Amino acid sequence: MSGAAPRRPVRMCVRCDRITDSPVLVSVVHQNSGPGWSVYACPGCAPCLPPVPDVFELWERGPGEE
Ligand SMILES: [Zn+2]
Repeated sequence: MSGAAPRRPVRMCVRCDRITDSPVLVSVVHQNSGPGWSVYACPGCAPCLPPVPDVFELWERGPGEE
């Protein structure tokens, strides 16, 4: 159909689990096998989020360690 407005990308906020039509990219998760994925937050939560560590960094440190 011509004249239809382009659909806005909607994402779920990683912090408050709400759907936002103005997602802010806060992290990109890389995987060894397969494609990685992007982590989004809503504009309200994005400034409050700490930088998300890379998943490989988490594996090296192990769970429970800071
Ligand atoms: Zn949010």
